[in-house]
Amino acid sequence: MGKASSQTVLILGGGVGGVAAANRLRKHLDRRHRIVLINREEDFSFAASYLWVMNGSREPKQVTRPLKRIERRGIEVVIGTVEFIDPLTRVVKVSGKNIHADHLIVTLGADWATDRVLGLAEFGHTFATLNGAQKLRKELENLKSGRITVVTSSPLYKCPAAPYEAALLIDSGLRKRGVRDKVQVLLRTAEPAPMPTAGKNVSEAVKSILTSRSIDYRPAVQITGVEYGKIYFGDEDEKTDLLVYMPPIAAPRVISDSLLAQPDGWIHADANTLRTEFDNVYAIGDNTQILLGIGKPLPRAGVFAHAQALAVAGSIIAKINGKEAVGIFDGHGGCFIEIGSGKAAFGSGNFYAQPAPEITMKPPSRLRHWGKVAFELNVLRRWL
Ligand SMILES: Cc1cc2nc3c(=O)[nH]c(=O)nc-3n(C[C@H](O)[C@H](O)[C@H](O)COP(=O)(O)OP(=O)(O)OC[C@H]3O[C@@H](n4cnc5c(N)ncnc54)[C@H](O)[C@@H]3O)c2cc1C
Repeated sequence: MGKASSQTVLILGGGVGGVAAANRLRKHLDRRHRIVLINREEDFSFAASYLWVMNGSREPKQVTRPLKRIERRGIEVVIGTVEFIDPLTRVVKVSGKNIHADHLIVTLGADWATDRVLGLAEFGHTFATLNGAQKLRKELENLKSGRITVVTSSPLYKCPAAPYEAALLIDSGLRKRGVRDKVQVLLRTAEPAPMPTAGKNVSEAVKSILTSRSIDYRPAVQITGVEYGKIYFGDEDEKTDLLVYMPPIAAPRVISDSLLAQPDGWIHADANTLRTEFDNVYAIGDNTQILLGIGKPLPRAGVFAHAQALAVAGSIIAKINGKEAVGIFDGHGGCFIEIGSGKAAFGSGNFYAQPAPEITMKPPSRLRHWGKVAFELNVLRRWL
């Protein structure tokens, strides 16, 4: 294998996976090779910090950076919408214009499917978007008594820890304001236990934190509709003064309409190499469905999008430089679980272990909270 002539690596999506891949590729590829990153929005915003926007620890501008900042490193950033992907020819239509790639990385994330639950968007508030977290913050600040209900509206959503963190941070905020005894905090989840993919030990550890904070937790209840002040779970209903939700997700339409998608709409890339069935086309992050030994998918989390991005970048760098090496994602990853009062727990391990993921959880500490702060700083200062 000889060194390739000038090549174009096209990255669809400028979120966690896209930015991580672009930076790694630029660091190791000769400048005659183009790295082009496409994203719909002008700004990168760091979703793992949205809960801190919700509880007033961050302002939106502190967790947002213009994507064009990475152009100073020699990465081309195109702000536009991916409208069509042909993985056979690696031609992508972006805001009406065709772009050809020699190597294509698809990392368009997951779309919100909030409209699957009638009334959810109209009567609920979410921490899952930057705008939503800002609005929710005002609602929380104004509430002095009543019931706050946090729900997951489908068993499949982004970041398995986030709704549990949301309930715990809301509890912590109410305590800080001295109104916790006047506000009930309820947590209703579609999934049967906290972070079930991580296994029983993690679920039990999270449950015991919820209990210690008097959060009224009920798993395996599917929200089916919302009206003003009322949540429906099939035949049952519950009153609420503030509904806080994690939205369901769906594969981005441009993917489900393409040859890349399986019947479920997602891309089923190889678990280790993230290759698709098409030459030089890779899929990483939330738009990729990787089924684990236990029959559940690898959770949608930035930590995996990041590790997969580095693996795929490694394969592309090797290929362009005429080497045989292949980058491998081995299924390891970890996640901070913010519990409030400046503390966080940390769950980590091997999600590809057989017959089931092997995950352990380190108990909440101040050090782990600062670990998450350091991670945020690294992304916002060094990636962008
Ligand atoms: C509230 C919250 C908290 C979270 N906390 C954590 C955490 O603590 N740890 C963790 O590991 N993960 C966390 N996550 C999950 C994490 O944010 C995602 O898993 C991660 O961002 C996935 O990376 P990605 O590159 O696949 O997709 P994304 O980061 O979502 O990037 C996809 C990009 O593609 C763009 N795009 C989509 N469609 C198009 C189109 N047609 N044309 C052009 N551009 C398009 C999008 O605008 C977006 O910029 C959290 C998520 C949420 C919502």
